[in-house]
Amino acid sequence: MRQLTEVAPGVLVTTAEMYTTTSTVLVGPDAACLVVDPAITPSDVAGLAAELAGRRLRPAAGWATHPHWDHVLWCAELGDVPRYATPRAAEVAERERHDLIEEVTQETPGHDLELFARLTPLSADRIPWDGPVAQILAHNAHEAGHGAVFLPGTGTLLAGDMLSDLEVPLLYTPGPDPVGQYRAGLDLLASVGDVRVIVPGHGHVGDGAEFRRRVDADLRYLDRLERGAPSAGQDERINSDWLRGEHDRQFRMLHQ
Ligand SMILES: [Zn+2]
Repeated sequence: MRQLTEVAPGVLVTTAEMYTTTSTVLVGPDAACLVVDPAITPSDVAGLAAELAGRRLRPAAGWATHPHWDHVLWCAELGDVPRYATPRAAEVAERERHDLIEEVTQETPGHDLELFARLTPLSADRIPWDGPVAQILAHNAHEAGHGAVFLPGTGTLLAGDMLSDLEVPLLYTPGPDPVGQYRAGLDLLASVGDVRVIVPGHGHVGDGAEFRRRVDADLRYLDRLERGAPSAGQDERINSDWLRGEHDRQFRMLHQ
């Protein structure tokens, strides 16, 4: 069983050990729920499904924030329901299915690959379901068609792979103007209004002040990265080999 913590009324978050990956469950009427980015190992995802069943919650739909392997997982026990994503994310997931399968097989083998990365494109500004309003904030920071979700009822922002206390901004480098796109994504998230709870895809849940602190920290990182300042690499969040590698790669790409 997995521990689900209520971070706001009707908003349950569970955090997996691997990559400090969060999954969020939004509770609606009649025991229906919306499952965002269920992750990350097969037993984590199965445990989440068992936990929901134990609470008599029934997934009505899913949402994948972006088409990276760790955000497009599912298991049969979560039910045969639409797993929405932005049209662009769904398209990328389909086009890059082969690579995604390779990654998930390497990182967390044992997932049901028939269900893996099967996304339903959604052209809408909110997720269609009977529960609390879930606004979609689509942008191209971190990945094409990244869709964060804002829950205005509780001021909760499900940020996907942004606004983490553990990771610096990771750019979508194949796209045009990666830093500009990232800034535009941050601007969009910062403009939604009264954020009182921030849930990053990897990292720890924070309050409104922490949300603003992370926006500032990410903007500062981007400023330094863009200027080519060596201090960009001294961001306190860069404290693992893989993150150091990611930072070096984006630094080189911008300044080679
Ligand atoms: Zn991720």
